[in-house]
Amino acid sequence: MDIYRHPTFDMACEQFDLVAERLQIGQVERERVKFPKRSFVVAVPVRMDDGRVQVFPGYRVQHHLSLGPTKGGLRFHPDVTLGEVAALAMWMSWKCALTNLPYGGAKGGVACDPRKLSAGEMERLTRRFTQELIPFIGPQIDIPAPDVGTNEQTMAWIMDTYSNHHGHSVPGVVTGKPVNLGGSLGRREATGRGVGYLVGRAMDVLGMDTKGATIAVQGYGNVGSVAAGSLAKHGARIIAVSDQFGGIHNAKGLDLNLLEAHLSKTRTVTGFSEADAITNAELLELPCDVLVPAALERQITAANAPRIKCRILAEGANGPTTPDADVILDQRPDIFIIPDILANAGGVVVSYFEWVQDLQSFFWTEAEVVDKLFRILETAFTQTLNYAKQEKVSMRMAALSLGIRRVWEAKKQRGLFP
Ligand code: GLU
Repeated sequence: MDIYRHPTFDMACEQFDLVAERLQIGQVERERVKFPKRSFVVAVPVRMDDGRVQVFPGYRVQHHLSLGPTKGGLRFHPDVTLGEVAALAMWMSWKCALTNLPYGGAKGGVACDPRKLSAGEMERLTRRFTQELIPFIGPQIDIPAPDVGTNEQTMAWIMDTYSNHHGHSVPGVVTGKPVNLGGSLGRREATGRGVGYLVGRAMDVLGMDTKGATIAVQGYGNVGSVAAGSLAKHGARIIAVSDQFGGIHNAKGLDLNLLEAHLSKTRTVTGFSEADAITNAELLELPCDVLVPAALERQITAANAPRIKCRILAEGANGPTTPDADVILDQRPDIFIIPDILANAGGVVVSYFEWVQDLQSFFWTEAEVVDKLFRILETAFTQTLNYAKQEKVSMRMAALSLGIRRVWEAKKQRGLFP
């Protein structure tokens, strides 16, 4: 499948092959479980504010269709490619399977720079991209959600474009919508809140206390900022955070309220007067109790893995750690990893709740959402930890094995058609 060639896709395949080897999945079945079922590449023409038309490449990869409709986010970022999206779709499959959601994985994206687009250009791009995908998405087919560079407003435009085409409101076509349009309470906070919950569980296992624990967060977007906030609420000290422009560090702990005020003025964490400037690379190597990579893939590599100095590595991002870094981290029992498909699963879990609420037109309180979210994460965490202990494998290998095994079993149970 050369069309997917990309370092991130190679990385997802490398992880899969290790698990397939362990589970002894036969060669033909291996290919069936591994490669995306179908992928769409679309050209998205957008009229820019200056009157020119610019064409953006858009992608949607639906990884497998064996357990229900496909599910996963949409990324608007300059580096988006088919291969990257395919890798992210694979990870969505294992994540949904690990948390027992009735979905296959999907991911999509448009190669564009949202920071350089006006609100009007963003809206036209989103609507035209949706238009190109109308036959291939829907509440029973494929349900997009926010990811890097997209948000509730993006989902509202998708829902409106799709609904206009069908002649009636179809809220279940996307999740992560504004609550007013059929979004779920607690969806926006879900991923970060899940990271916070699982860090708490890892601390229980390790006999650590959240109070006074030091936390470094790479990426202060929707995931990183909520994770930091929920850990701070339990008494942890957030000593460093960063974004695409750089990082800030204060060993005494950052005042998140002051930081929020700075952020709303400048749209970046850099330049915050109550902290020192550091680079993203330096942040990853800070001594701390918990390191939360919550930005993009392939941040922890063989080059910096020996120098990571955290006790818990909680992967808020998808694919932040490369397989060659894993080889090094496997030799470091001082680091407890909460792997991405577990650590950041809170988002898609509450997306599932949003979809269920939309299909039933019956909405839950935030307390119900949070309670059900923590129950699902608790089960997935316990199963992963027990599997890791019993099989004497890493937490990543355990989580991937549980997810991949479920997809493999589903394909065997359904059989091959015709
Ligand atoms: N983009 C998020 C993820 O990577 C959420 C996907 C969803 O809610 O469908 O898990």
